[in-house]
Amino acid sequence: MNILIVDHSRVFRTVLHKMVENLGHHPISVEDAEQAVDILHQQPIGLVCAALELPGINGITLCQQLRSLPQYLKTPYILLTSTDDQRLRHDAFEAGVTEIQERTDAKELTDRLCRFFLDEQEEVHGRVLYIEDSQVAAHVIISLLQGMNLHVDHFRVAEAALAAFDQQDYDLIISDILLEGSISGVGLVNRVRDLPSFKRRIPILAVSGVDDPARRIELFRQGVNDYITKPPLEEEVRARVRNLIISKQLLDQVEKQSQQLYEMAMKDQLTGLYNRNSLREFAPKYFSNAARHNYPVSLLVIDLDHFKNINDRYGHVTGDNVLARAGEMLGRSCREGDLAARVGGEEFVLLLNYCKGEDARRRAEQICRAIEALRPEGVMLTASIGVSARSLGQAAKFEELYKTADHAMYEAKKQGRNRVAYIPQQ
Ligand code: GH3
Ligand code: MG
Ligand code: MG
Ligand code: MG
Repeated sequence: MNILIVDHSRVFRTVLHKMVENLGHHPISVEDAEQAVDILHQQPIGLVCAALELPGINGITLCQQLRSLPQYLKTPYILLTSTDDQRLRHDAFEAGVTEIQERTDAKELTDRLCRFFLDEQEEVHGRVLYIEDSQVAAHVIISLLQGMNLHVDHFRVAEAALAAFDQQDYDLIISDILLEGSISGVGLVNRVRDLPSFKRRIPILAVSGVDDPARRIELFRQGVNDYITKPPLEEEVRARVRNLIISKQLLDQVEKQSQQLYEMAMKDQLTGLYNRNSLREFAPKYFSNAARHNYPVSLLVIDLDHFKNINDRYGHVTGDNVLARAGEMLGRSCREGDLAARVGGEEFVLLLNYCKGEDARRRAEQICRAIEALRPEGVMLTASIGVSARSLGQAAKFEELYKTADHAMYEAKKQGRNRVAYIPQQ
């Protein structure tokens, strides 16, 4: 990119020139506004860095002249000055200066330029749901978004857009406020924000033909994240769209990472089942709920038989695979509301919600047969299962039932393994 540097100090020009070169761009430095205007006519400039104080006309008037050229309406213009004169600063922004930077602070200026170039380079990828009933307005925005390499699904009415939103994941919604059809842009915002799923958090950029502060505030209250007026300034749309998509995607990443951390803390990596910690955390709730609403809960302790022999005979890797297959099978044998945990090396616990002792014993028998039939990695595998249950009207605690089921499991081992033992509560 061509960067125009306008400063009367040769030392400063040289420093800035090098800085821009080091950042991989093409600097053109001149010492006054007159030369700057010549350059602006001769070649396309992507960014102007100009000092306020210049021989002849100053940096603010130069900016005015630049803005009078149609090709430079939106080019970033950094004014370099140490002035804290509020009037001058105000005049600068009025003239179209996009930013004011401390001229003598080389570090801050380098940081600013780095950020500018990074923003320019960093591409966003994403999918935009765009609702606009005017073909002319839509055409401009669609080609702009496609120019940013974004995928755009365009609809003229909110109903069709909402149907698409239901089917597809998007990174941004851009919606006109006045729409044909029975749902307006505001109605669309309300419907999205009322959704029960994570989808309700999608960023929404509203586009409106009227720039009325009261309406703008109302839209923000309804849950719009950002707002632009028609006809939109292309640079502004680009910058706002970028910001919204980048923050949305960052938030998605953070959420995914915290989900992964949760999984790592609560789940057993080998089998994908819950671990001992999560069993200790969740189980008491099963029992207190069951006691409060007086329904049965049962507990199975499942210990694989002679697992040491399996390791000795087939090796630890096969042993691990056998454990993983057995764990997955136990997970699949659960109904909704049940909980399966791997609580030790080859020991598992199943909490069976709404399940009476006799039914739990039957399910334990089925699981015992299923493990025997599994033959994971071609290995003959069996398990001993202990069952205990909280019967109706009893105030049993998790710890007690765990002890009872564990005791039953040892009974099953004693009786010859590959079987179920059930100790009904007295
Ligand atoms: P029993 O029928 O009496 O339960 O016999 P067992 O050999 O299964 O019992 P024991 O508790 O003495 O030994 C359990 C074995 O399980 C010991 C250990 O080598 C194996 N084991 C525990 N955790 C893992 C694991 O994560 N991977 C593998 N491969 N083996 C494990
Ligand atoms: Mg409209
Ligand atoms: Mg064992
Ligand atoms: Mg064991």
